[in-house]
Order: sequence, then C-alpha cells, then structure tokens
Amino acid sequence: MNKSSLTVLLLASSLALFTGCEGSNSHPPVKPADNAATGTPSPAPGQSTATASPTPSTTPAGNNTAKTPDSGKSGANQVVAEPNSTMVLVNKQFALPEKYEPSDLVYPDVPFTFKEKIEKRKMRKEAAAALEKLFAGAKKDGISLAGVSAYRSNATQKSIFNNYVKNDGEEKAKTYSAVPGHSEHETGLAIDVSGSDGKCAAQDCFGGTKEAEWLAKHSAEYGFIIRYLKGKESITGYQYEPWHIRYVGTQAAKEIASKGITLEEYLNAVPVTK
Ligand SMILES: [Zn+2]
Repeated sequence: MNKSSLTVLLLASSLALFTGCEGSNSHPPVKPADNAATGTPSPAPGQSTATASPTPSTTPAGNNTAKTPDSGKSGANQVVAEPNSTMVLVNKQFALPEKYEPSDLVYPDVPFTFKEKIEKRKMRKEAAAALEKLFAGAKKDGISLAGVSAYRSNATQKSIFNNYVKNDGEEKAKTYSAVPGHSEHETGLAIDVSGSDGKCAAQDCFGGTKEAEWLAKHSAEYGFIIRYLKGKESITGYQYEPWHIRYVGTQAAKEIASKGITLEEYLNAVPVTK
C-alpha cells in the first residue's frame, strides 16, 4: 500500500459520524469519533465575502463573515455572522453565536408525537408556515406525518451536552452529541419528522418507510431539504437521517434536491470532517 492510499484510509477511518438529533436519545453513534474536535480549523472559502439576502441565489450566504472564537476547547471553529438567515449553515464547524435565540418562534399547527406545548414543538415563523403546508400536502397523498422534535434552545442543548459530559467525559460526549451552538435544532429551522404513529421516530428504521420516501420526494416543494444524506456523511459529518428536515426556502431546496447535494456543497463550505 502506498502512502497516499494509507492517508485516505486513515482519513476515512477518522470520520466523525453522529446523529444531529441526539436530544431524542434514541440512536447511538454509528461509530466513535476520536478526533472530531481536534481537526485543524480551516478557512471556509466562499463564506467570507458574500452578503446575506432574503432571496436565495446561486451564491447564497448564510454564514458570510465568520469569526474564530477564542475557545478552541469547545470544538467551535467559527461563529456564524447571520444566525437569522434561513440559509444559515450550522454544523460541527459553524456555530450559532452564544445564547442565540430566534425572535420569531411559533407553534406550527401540525400534529406532534406528544401533546404538550413545549419548546421542541416550536419553529421559526417562516419554517412553521412551510411545515404546515408540507404536512397538508402529505395528507393529500395519504401520508400522515407527526413532528418529533423541532426547536431546541441553547440552554437545552447545553444541559443535554453537559449531562453527557458528566457521564462520559467531554471528548466522548462530543462523538455523539452536538456541542452547544452546533445543533441545527437550535436554528428553529429544523425538525425531526415521523409517521403519525411515532414508530421509528428519529431512528434508522424510519428509512424506507412510506413517510420517509414521501419526505425525500416532496420536501423541497415546501422549502425543506433532507439535511443529512446517505453517502454524504464525510461532508455533513452526520450519518444518514431521513427524518431530519431543514427549511431553506423553496428555491434553494429545489436546487439542492435536484442536484442531490448537501447544504455544505450548496454554500461551498468545506467538509466538516476535514
Ligand atoms: Zn434532527
């Protein structure tokens, strides 16, 4: 084996894959990531000059001028400059500003797998309205959906993460739980969806269900994308999650879906695992 193929192998084996919906506590990591937090922060070309605009274009900008925070310890590499953009990119590399909280959270009028009016039922206004249309569209096709988990505050993510740290230590916790600020659920633009029976909610067995197939086929019409695609784990840093949809607006969603690409690729961001 030559040196470069060895390097490729090593890189591949060090990919950190975990789920983006760890608050549900229902799915353990595919495999442990030993060096998820030690990757060298790299600049993100294409993200430094663009300006945010409410109308997505082919060069959308959710994250424009990112800055490097002081705490390398947190694993946070860059903080997004425009957390309120519907194109905001939040992943292992890009974090929301500390204590960010969307100002327009509402309760989408759709069924959830639980009855309580609590935080995880909320979404940002625009995303909530789009979600209501998506659920109605599914119903027309004979597909009954239910929300599982949408918004998660920074405080909630912190408490979830700190609990894991208490039990497993920070390094291990990072392999299966998002560091506070790095969970897409904190944007208010993402939601985990299941069938109305709640079966396989945020679990691998949701893949291949008629609900998952409907979502994959139709989400973009309503402005949502399947955020963590199969085969794109090395770019998103997450395992395939057919239940986790993210609002980006219809124009971007349709382009992303038709090209079969990730939000990272759409925004010309570097793969998070590099
Ligand atoms: Zn999720």
